[in-house]
Amino acid sequence: MLTCSEVLAELSNYLDNEVSAELRQGLEEHLKDCPNCWVLFDTTRKTIQIFRGTEPYPLPEGLHDKLQEALRKRMEQDPPGQN
Ligand SMILES: [Zn+2]
Repeated sequence: MLTCSEVLAELSNYLDNEVSAELRQGLEEHLKDCPNCWVLFDTTRKTIQIFRGTEPYPLPEGLHDKLQEALRKRMEQDPPGQN
């Protein structure tokens, strides 16, 4: 049986599928029997899912200003409503 600290040390590896089959089995057995580790596992898993899945990529710094400037120039060259 793995200890809690061993489980926690391998938690991110486990979530990344970077543990051996043997270790995976040990982790899963521990998580079944240990509510404390289960909660941490579940929270970490959800955090990773949010981070990888739905977190929007931030705009690179300065891109917003460049977009604004490009829009402004475009409006000056081609004002709307004058065709
Ligand atoms: Zn535990």
